[in-house]
Amino acid sequence: MKNIVILGSTGSIGTNTLEVIAKYPDRFKVLGLSTNTAIDKLINQVKLFKPAFVCISDENSYKLAKDSLTKEGVTVLSGEVGLVELACLDDAQIVVAAIVGCAGLEPTYYALKSGKTIALANKEVLVSAGDLFIREMNERGNHIIPVDSEHSALFQCIQGQDKKSIKKLILTASGGPFCGMKREELAKVTVNDALKHPNWSMGKKITIDSATLMNKGLEMIEAHHLFGLSPNNIEALIHRQSIIHSIVAFKDGSCLAQLSMPDMKGPIAYALSYPERLENIMEPLDLSILGKLTFEKPDKTTFPCLSLAYESMKIGKSMPVVLNAANEIAVSAFLDSMISFIEIPVIIEKVMNIHQPFELSNIEIILEFDRWARNKTMEVIKN
Ligand code: NDP
Ligand code: MG
Repeated sequence: MKNIVILGSTGSIGTNTLEVIAKYPDRFKVLGLSTNTAIDKLINQVKLFKPAFVCISDENSYKLAKDSLTKEGVTVLSGEVGLVELACLDDAQIVVAAIVGCAGLEPTYYALKSGKTIALANKEVLVSAGDLFIREMNERGNHIIPVDSEHSALFQCIQGQDKKSIKKLILTASGGPFCGMKREELAKVTVNDALKHPNWSMGKKITIDSATLMNKGLEMIEAHHLFGLSPNNIEALIHRQSIIHSIVAFKDGSCLAQLSMPDMKGPIAYALSYPERLENIMEPLDLSILGKLTFEKPDKTTFPCLSLAYESMKIGKSMPVVLNAANEIAVSAFLDSMISFIEIPVIIEKVMNIHQPFELSNIEIILEFDRWARNKTMEVIKN
């Protein structure tokens, strides 16, 4: 039996993780759950999965829900300190990192430091602190198993392969709802248009990142850290059907790819049960029904976020922290209708241009640059 803690259990990845766990009660036990504000959803999850601990990050939501959760026999933690405590519980073997954005950085980092296996969906933590995370993982010998579908695909394709024989990683991208549009058309899109992803149902932030292609940029940085390849050996490829989840190209000219229906329960189940595979997780793939799979190059002129992320990866040091923080603030300003869709990359680029990159030696410095970039981005938006 594996004891699981889910950071961000009320989100899209969190609820999919609980669906997988519900199918295999003999293998997985939920030890801890967390939310920011979604207390009703958390209370329902507690009734179904009976965790011993929960954490509610938002202080008002904590005050509202504490008494009813305590009556259920649960220890209720709160705030950033509570989240770190939850992530480091002695009895937990796997911590599912499913918080969105840099808010997940500290709990995921301390979970890794305390020896847990990390099932990682929260890509922003690797974008901001990839070197630190991989160093920590290598020193301790524990694992970060990717949940992001592209990285899960790559991770599955490299099993049993010699890493030195890999030439290139090709990350596939659906292209989002605006694939094929030109800049003039993008100037008019609304928040609702951007939230309509063609293939995946996900949280709002990653859905907007998919529409700007920043998601693929963040994923290239994530892949760079997870698989240790240089930026020159990582590419993005538009594949609108989201059936091939990514491709490893080897030096001899062979390629290995992983295919399945677009369903996050696949990569989640693989991360929880690795190296085993569980039965009946996803609908089986029938290529004869799908008929054809298509591929095209991404349009980097219309979607500049991809190039901004790539530049930040090449510069390294604190630049990806700044890219990520500026993107989080710009996306949230777009969702609040403070800026237009095409202003997102313009704002991120302005903040990157005023940043002088520094070496990152520890988590405190990373958090400091993250705060700096958030404040700077707010200033840029207000002006
Ligand atoms: P959601 O927005 O659906 O869920 C995010 C979770 O984090 C919720 O439980 C939310 O609580 C919690 N949370 C948000 N902000 C804070 C905060 N400041 N402090 C503590 N907890 C917080 O996101 P997704 O599930 O879509 O994505 C989660 C991560 O996984 C992201 O990094 C995303 O890029 C990655 N990912 C997601 C995929 C998907 O299919 N959804 C696919 C691949 C990667 P509350 O419910 O109260 O808001
Ligand atoms: Mg992905």
